[in-house]
Amino acid sequence: MTLVPAQFSSPSPQAGSLVRIAIVGRGFTGLMTAIALLKAFQGPFHLVLYDPYPKIDGGEAAGRSASTLLNSRVRDLSIDPTAREDFRRWLETDDVWRERAASPAGNVDHAFVPGEVFSAYVYQRFSEALRERTDVMVQVRADSVTAIGRHPGGGFSVLSSDGQTRFDAVFLATGYGLRDGADCASIHGSVAEALVIGGGVHAVDRALRLLAAGEASHVTLISASGFLPQPHTSSAVGAVTSDRPFPHTLRGAFRYLREAANRAAAEGSGWQGIMNDFRQRARALWQGLTPDERRRFKRHVKPIYDSHRNRLPPGQYERLHRAIAGGAITVRKGKVERIATNGVLLSTAAGLQVLPADRTIDCRIRPTDLDSPLFRALIAGNLVQRDELDLGIFVDRAGRVIVEPEVFEGLFAMGPLGLGSLPDIDLVPEIVVQAYAAAEALAASLQGAQTRNGGPPAGRNEG
Ligand SMILES: Cc1cc2nc3c(=O)[nH]c(=O)nc-3n(C[C@H](O)[C@H](O)[C@H](O)COP(=O)(O)OP(=O)(O)OC[C@H]3O[C@@H](n4cnc5c(N)ncnc54)[C@H](O)[C@@H]3O)c2cc1C
Repeated sequence: MTLVPAQFSSPSPQAGSLVRIAIVGRGFTGLMTAIALLKAFQGPFHLVLYDPYPKIDGGEAAGRSASTLLNSRVRDLSIDPTAREDFRRWLETDDVWRERAASPAGNVDHAFVPGEVFSAYVYQRFSEALRERTDVMVQVRADSVTAIGRHPGGGFSVLSSDGQTRFDAVFLATGYGLRDGADCASIHGSVAEALVIGGGVHAVDRALRLLAAGEASHVTLISASGFLPQPHTSSAVGAVTSDRPFPHTLRGAFRYLREAANRAAAEGSGWQGIMNDFRQRARALWQGLTPDERRRFKRHVKPIYDSHRNRLPPGQYERLHRAIAGGAITVRKGKVERIATNGVLLSTAAGLQVLPADRTIDCRIRPTDLDSPLFRALIAGNLVQRDELDLGIFVDRAGRVIVEPEVFEGLFAMGPLGLGSLPDIDLVPEIVVQAYAAAEALAASLQGAQTRNGGPPAGRNEG
């Protein structure tokens, strides 16, 4: 979906008196934050959405290769925290999905959909929320933000190519950094040997599609950790709580998961339910770990954890293992040191190796970009602080940026930017909950400031 800025309201002279809010980044997190503000932030405001990328397509998740299946089920992708069935209901407004829902085998809640379908749903909910708020002015800027600092008059100065603009609150939603528009799906013709770099669901999906479309006779899948995603169960399982006490240490967590998985195997139930429960409680465990335990988690456990939380739909998992058994896919463990036009230089336990290939496709998920000019300015201004694992910056559950001993001033870092503080905050259900918590936290803080300054509290019906 390409943006047409004219369809949004443009700023008017009254805009100066409104609460001014900026969202930096229009991927899924930025758009979800905008939806939550439109739905839950009472009182008129002026919202500016910054992103140089010209499309609203769900960001990295949906836009990298729009036809790629997302690895969460329909029932886990509702963006309405009060209505888990919201995405299914939206899908069922389409004849194909309605017929599927009516068929005996068609439980739409358990289905997996391509990124572009999810993206269309999010965009429609955004448009609806926007239509309902005639008191809100929304402006879309096709511009990247290069610095943010404190404004001498209070709030923040946001620097883009348009110059400096003052805001009362800023939501950072820059996820995996500026998008370059390169689509890892763009490959033409057929080759004998293709390399796909990445060990996640996106890389596996890409490798399988290369083979299915006859675009490669053989694919080498390069996984840095050697792990590949585990499978989902054939129909969704909820969270299964173990009767053992929940662990408080990394070692305890290992033992807990191993024992629970063994018991699940003995009982014939899958480990997925245990993992679902573990994920829901992982935040409390994470807060209690020492910095050293967190570092050990990142180094030794994260790849295993990721391969069990980001799972493949069962059909894809079977196709992957059939392709490996049949020799169409070879899995290599190693770190890619260099990508050339005719292959890659791979660092393995046995030393450096050259892997020749006719085509190389990089499907790695980029880390959050904390070395960008924007984050360098934020860190230099002591407005944000990198977490000790360099996964992101310190935040609380609502995304409020934490810089000891400063109090919160209206700066939020949403979604994957908080990965060092909040496990799983890069996933859709967690981002949805965080977006609403952030909208409420901002309202409470502005209300508090207005009361302290003797002004009237913000209310939806004023002005
Ligand atoms: C391939 C893939 C598949 C996924 N599948 C699922 C799934 O099935 N289920 C699930 O729960 N989660 C899934 N996720 C995870 C989750 O959806 C993502 O973590 C989430 O979409 C992150 O979105 P984001 O908006 O924070 O980041 P991004 O998508 O990276 O968007 C960030 C945006 O910010 C912009 N930006 C960056 N820097 C600046 C700047 N300085 N100024 C202005 N704009 C800037 C970029 O151009 C970009 O558009 C998936 C993720 C990926 C990558």
